[in-house]
Amino acid sequence: MVEGFNPVRYSVIKEKNPREIVMLVGDGCKWRKCRFCDYHLDSSLDIENNYKINKEALGHITGIYKKLEVINSGSFVDLDDKTIKLIKDICLDKGINEVHFECHYMHKDDIEKFKKDFSHLGITVLIKLGLETFDYKLREEVLVKGIEEKNPEVIAKYFDEINLLQGIKGQNADSMIRDIEMGLKYFKRVCVNIMVENAMPIKPDKKVINEFIKEVYPKYIDNERVDILLNNTDFGVGENK
Ligand code: SF4
Repeated sequence: MVEGFNPVRYSVIKEKNPREIVMLVGDGCKWRKCRFCDYHLDSSLDIENNYKINKEALGHITGIYKKLEVINSGSFVDLDDKTIKLIKDICLDKGINEVHFECHYMHKDDIEKFKKDFSHLGITVLIKLGLETFDYKLREEVLVKGIEEKNPEVIAKYFDEINLLQGIKGQNADSMIRDIEMGLKYFKRVCVNIMVENAMPIKPDKKVINEFIKEVYPKYIDNERVDILLNNTDFGVGENK
């Protein structure tokens, strides 16, 4: 856990697929190699304390939209059993029938059972993959994402939704649109994250971000299946209090 990091862990997304969202803490991403990511630092091996933090965040849930998104700077497998049980209990209590979790490709074989465990309770689970781009070279040689599969049809057998990372060197308006269109073709929803500066080697590229704002953003701003985060705190979770 990063010292002094005291983020907002609960928020409500009111536009596009309205849902509540919580940012929970797990025991850490098992990949940790992506060259643009430092948010996996929001993790800890102190499972009891993680549960305490998670319980506090989950305690805000009202069930207002019957939908919940759970993020934890890693994969659902990093969350402890007590937290998963609490999520199920709260969903049943508040009438939530759809929960979105995130997951790295390396855990794809854990998804089926995880979904079943919720569907027995009448809760649909949707899994989001941080795919970042369909450009294999950029994804694996530059971003080091750790997704060996090239075929989107195969990836879509496991995952319902994807994150895309845009606004970095090696992209332009055409390539960003291509990625979003591929995402829309194979997946239920696409979340575009514009790169923001952090301590990692991949940096935001101003020129590419300007191209995004001018040529890509207007095309998808009203698309209900596309979330766009110009800043990584746009969902309302993550920023320091
Ligand atoms: S898989 Fe996700 S959490 Fe893990 S290093 Fe990559 S972007 Fe970060």
